[in-house]
Amino acid sequence: LRSLDNEHVWHPFTQMRAHREEGVPIIESGEGFFLTDVDGKTYLDGVSSLWCNVHGHRVPAIDQAIRDQLDKVAHSTLLGLASVPSIELAEDLVKRAPEGLTKVFYSDSGSTAVEIALKMAFQYHAQKATPDTQPRTLFACMQHAYHGDTIGSVSVGGISIFHQIFGQLLFESVQIPCPSAYHRPTEYTKAGYLEFCEQELERLIVENHERLAAFVIEPLVQGAAGMLMHPPGYLKRVRELTARYGIPLIADEVAVGLGRTGTMFACEQEDVTPDFLCLAKGITGGYLPLAATMTTDEIFSAFDAEPDEYKAFYHGHTYTGNSLACAAALATLELFDSEQTLDNVKQIAEVLTQRLAELKDHPHVGEVRHKGSMVGIELVADRETKAAFPASKRMGHQVTLVARKQGVIVRPLGDVVVLMPAPGMPAELIHQLCDVVFAAIDEAVR
Ligand code: PMP
Repeated sequence: LRSLDNEHVWHPFTQMRAHREEGVPIIESGEGFFLTDVDGKTYLDGVSSLWCNVHGHRVPAIDQAIRDQLDKVAHSTLLGLASVPSIELAEDLVKRAPEGLTKVFYSDSGSTAVEIALKMAFQYHAQKATPDTQPRTLFACMQHAYHGDTIGSVSVGGISIFHQIFGQLLFESVQIPCPSAYHRPTEYTKAGYLEFCEQELERLIVENHERLAAFVIEPLVQGAAGMLMHPPGYLKRVRELTARYGIPLIADEVAVGLGRTGTMFACEQEDVTPDFLCLAKGITGGYLPLAATMTTDEIFSAFDAEPDEYKAFYHGHTYTGNSLACAAALATLELFDSEQTLDNVKQIAEVLTQRLAELKDHPHVGEVRHKGSMVGIELVADRETKAAFPASKRMGHQVTLVARKQGVIVRPLGDVVVLMPAPGMPAELIHQLCDVVFAAIDEAVR
């Protein structure tokens, strides 16, 4: 298997030469919060697969829901037909989402959920345009943002490894300074930096509002940026300004949604209803590819005003609203109620707060960022000067290698060690996760 993997499988985000040399575990099975490889070694899954297995692996209720659906039909298209599970799931999502999000457009990954919101926002303005308004071809996004891998979602990203090579293919965006950046310019104190970010937010919106098609943001926590946390009230401020200037707000909850931050959706914590809410990852409990772009009657009405071929939304995938995936999603959402998963996230968060305090004076931990079941541990060569380790050391990666040897899977984002335990993970396993990761940090930096 290993030589066939090396021969044929091209892994994403991966320097394949290093991958071949390293010999990653080949996973054969999973149970609860553990994965087992073909050599029989078992690992605690500290990142819920890729941040998506919210209730763990082989969850009986989700397995059963998929089997039941399989006995009916695995898939039928949403082009010209409707399907029972896609209708039931849409109803459930609308009930749970911030009030006013009444329409659900399905696709199959977080990237496409965002791409769809961008295209819908653009077309919404185009359909409302008069001959003397200029086209809105500009999008606002946050510095360091990650919203996916398709050309549109990369265009509203701010991480150079994703951006740089494709620069000439991308459309125009303005980047709003991220108010939580650990690597903020040294001339700003913490308070001063927030003030600067709010002023820049306002300035960029005021300056560009006639050209802006939408503002896309990950509410509360910029996950793939290295778990950068926005200060309380920031999202609300973004909502107020975008509403004042008539700019649709796209909340990308692909990572932060489904309980991660302690509430079902991160937007709830600031009482914000965005114009678009993008969901994927955990929506099927990490079982099957499914995404949803939720929006309002107001946005929808621009596509529905008259029967006009050119006013319909021309975006659709073969597997959109797949029945097995919708059935898995319905079971996943029901488990949030029956297992009181949101209460569990609160317990996880308490354990993490207590355990992460142990890193407070660690000479190679620059900052620990934590909300709900999302954690970023920023490794540095020097805590005082914030000097980074040389990139060639791949220190974040080294930590994950040591942790893996000790039977725990975590993934770094550069030199930020990320913990993303499943919202349903029992608290005692959080202790095991912390024990191994903290020891791995000590060993790797030694
Ligand atoms: N948005 C955010 C905030 C994400 O974290 C991710 C995935 N890490 C995506 C979008 C893209 O999702 P997918 O990988 O399913 O395309």
